[in-house]
Amino acid sequence: LPLFLDSPQTLMPRNQPRPVGRTLLLLLLAAVVAGAVYLQRELRLPPPAVVAVTSDLPAIGRKTIVTVTAQEPRRGLSQLTVTASGAGFQRRVLAQVSPPTTDAGPHEQVVVVIPLGREVTPDIRPGTVTLEVVAQARGTRLRTPPPVVVRLTREVQLQPPTLAARSAFIHPAQGGAEVVVYDVGPGSKRDGVQVGRWFFSGFPLPGGSANQRFALFGIPYDLETSEAEAQARVLLVAEDELGNRAESQFIHRYFRRPMGKDAIELQDAFMKKVTEEVYARTPELRRTNDLLEDFLQLNRGLRQSNMAQLASLAASSRGKFLWSETFLPMPNAAVKGSFADRRTYLAAGKPVDTQDHLGFDLASLKQAPVQAANAGVVALSSYFGIFGNCVVLDHGYGLMSLYAHLSTLAVKVGDTVARGQELGRTGGTGLAGGDHLHFTMLVQGLPVTPVEWWDGHWIQDRLKLKLAGALPWQGTP
Ligand SMILES: [Zn+2]
Repeated sequence: LPLFLDSPQTLMPRNQPRPVGRTLLLLLLAAVVAGAVYLQRELRLPPPAVVAVTSDLPAIGRKTIVTVTAQEPRRGLSQLTVTASGAGFQRRVLAQVSPPTTDAGPHEQVVVVIPLGREVTPDIRPGTVTLEVVAQARGTRLRTPPPVVVRLTREVQLQPPTLAARSAFIHPAQGGAEVVVYDVGPGSKRDGVQVGRWFFSGFPLPGGSANQRFALFGIPYDLETSEAEAQARVLLVAEDELGNRAESQFIHRYFRRPMGKDAIELQDAFMKKVTEEVYARTPELRRTNDLLEDFLQLNRGLRQSNMAQLASLAASSRGKFLWSETFLPMPNAAVKGSFADRRTYLAAGKPVDTQDHLGFDLASLKQAPVQAANAGVVALSSYFGIFGNCVVLDHGYGLMSLYAHLSTLAVKVGDTVARGQELGRTGGTGLAGGDHLHFTMLVQGLPVTPVEWWDGHWIQDRLKLKLAGALPWQGTP
């Protein structure tokens, strides 16, 4: 604006200074400059708002999150409106915000999060939905900038993957295992068996067609329910990438195997032995100054964290049957504790804790050889919390066997072991009162009774009849 910024002297006669007129002229000039600055500011449009619309999934199914981000750093937005058309919507307003200006200035950025899909907008229909975002920037007194309009188009797909169980005679028992062969459509991204919080992922059926899969699954030892209830809670499920989920009941019978009961009187000598060893070998744990409290921290917290570690270990299981014979029990052993006993711990006759014992306690001679129950690969061989020196073998498809309280370890992680191979010697490390082997089978981290796996008839009836050639089992029933 060179005209207004010129020096005032250039407009004045030189040799006749008239002080009053000169002041007036200066004031006038100042007013003109101020007016020009005002006009210049009020007539100039701010740059258009910058608007982005994105979605976290490529289409809309169960629940897709659409995020609208609008920015206008100079004056802020006066209004932002999001409408939906198509797929059951007739220009429905999904969001309308008028961000207020605060003392701190305009809201430079407005973010609107809109969930869309069957779960949140149940009247949505299959088809194509167009979201229209209209962002109106705040104008001046004299001019309003044109709104910025941005559209996002997404397909709405609400059909879950097709899913059908192919196996007959699915007769699981509480605390046991089973297998199901099923067909699933190509859209499935996650399928298998769901039982409460436990999920047993399916795998391609060896030798089967592209849509044939199977899942080895376990029944939680505490699923103490009727057959009808179990049928409703043990479900075959398949989900596509949009979260569309098919669920199907597929078990035919259910056998209850109520948990056993047991009581353990805690002696100071036992608690001293256990806490001294386990805390020394588990440096991340802090002792209290109370023996019973120290013991209970192990019996509760450490037990829980060890069980969670076993569930994560299942993710490393190989997608292959690594075994072909019936599982071996420990030879010449006396059973000192059995699977799924609910144990009450007593201190001076008073109950102080309740925990579930999830394995077999097998005792023979001191430092007896511990044999691999079946062929597999060593997934864990180290000191492991309440289990003391412990070996876990992977047998494939999420199936593992666990050997705890050992005195010595003879294998290392990654070793391939043969059925009957020595893994170490029995002992009393970890939460153990005396020399014995604590043994259990695990299906994707869930402890299940080993009794089934020791039984050729069970493998024949429950697994072989369903998996046929896919299971390389050479045993005899
Ligand atoms: Zn045990």
